[in-house]
Amino acid sequence: MLSVLVLSAAFTDGRTQSPVVPASPSGLDFIDTGFENASPLWYELAPDGSIQINLLYDHERASPNRAAGHIHFQIHAKSGSKLTLEFRNLDNVWNGQPGSVAAELKAVAISENGREWTPVPTESLPGNRIRLTVQMPGPRLYVAREEPYRLSDLDRLLESIRKNRLVQITSIGKTVGGRDLEVIRIGSASAPYRVFLRARAHPWESGSSWVAEGLIQRLLEDDAGAKTFLAQYAAYILPMANKDGVARGMTRFNLRGKDLNRNWDTPADADLAPENAALERWLEGMIAAGRKPHLAIELHNDGRGLLHISRPPVPQLDRHLARMATLEDLLRKKTWFTEGSTNGAFRNSGTLGDGWLERYGIDAVVHEFNCNWIEGLKDYPSARHWRTYGEKLAEVFQEYFHVVKP
Ligand SMILES: [Zn+2]
Repeated sequence: MLSVLVLSAAFTDGRTQSPVVPASPSGLDFIDTGFENASPLWYELAPDGSIQINLLYDHERASPNRAAGHIHFQIHAKSGSKLTLEFRNLDNVWNGQPGSVAAELKAVAISENGREWTPVPTESLPGNRIRLTVQMPGPRLYVAREEPYRLSDLDRLLESIRKNRLVQITSIGKTVGGRDLEVIRIGSASAPYRVFLRARAHPWESGSSWVAEGLIQRLLEDDAGAKTFLAQYAAYILPMANKDGVARGMTRFNLRGKDLNRNWDTPADADLAPENAALERWLEGMIAAGRKPHLAIELHNDGRGLLHISRPPVPQLDRHLARMATLEDLLRKKTWFTEGSTNGAFRNSGTLGDGWLERYGIDAVVHEFNCNWIEGLKDYPSARHWRTYGEKLAEVFQEYFHVVKP
């Protein structure tokens, strides 16, 4: 059967051009986004045979901010065909300023089965565009910004640890879409120290969930190391803050257009950001019970991977900065972290790190992970490397509490 694709373009002078182009000169049949965590997009074939991918933005409420950059789709195409994909619509707006994500998008991951992934570098094109060239190893190929961590991955983790006597999983509330938000406690509520971690406030940043999973797995290993860690501290982990966004393949905001790593300088809006309101309620309950976390880390991905040490005007800022310097030092010693921290003028108001320090006096910090490259390993990021990082965090916390004694 011969099928043709007719492209029509109207010129401004009224003429109509109707070139006839053979269907899918590239071998492409379809781009599938009909599955969990797939990124919403539309696409078209350019006359040169390249596939123009237009990711859809998600938008912040009452703000010019918008974000695209989550990539997760499945190509259906002729086995062996070589495809050129061009990503457009990367013109994000961030903190009210144009902030294209193109400059931060240097690699993606591809997979035939959605489980084993291979990194592939991308090429930068003028005008905030990115090119990716792939050869189809078979009739189907997944492409993702980074190795996906889906709701089903979290469900599998929760199922595997739920019955462990060291684990307590508490539902602290629901997302806008009605999904349960879990805080996982590993260890005893009466341990001397408490560390809190949150992952996935921004749905595209799957590396954060892999790090959290690595820590959980390490603390639950039935060995002498784990016993030592849990004798000293309990870990409280919110592994997926923006579940609705993860399910729908969104990039940054929740379903009501709120950034869950903003507005922590004021009480959370229970209607617009129920995910944050639930966490705030949980935190205030912990504080009321005399169990304030001694350290809180908000896990993210970006193109740089710094430790974001913010400096709100709090009475004991110097003490906080000294503790964060200790933390950074331990990260460098015990993990593959080499990226460093933000400079002495840095402040990012409204992030969880800044807000929890300012409002609750908690030593809190945002930890970004470079989504393109791990300099300390000279390798591309992967679920395996992020999990290893999480495993090593178990030691970092032990040493941190030992040294700092907060
Ligand atoms: Zn983020």
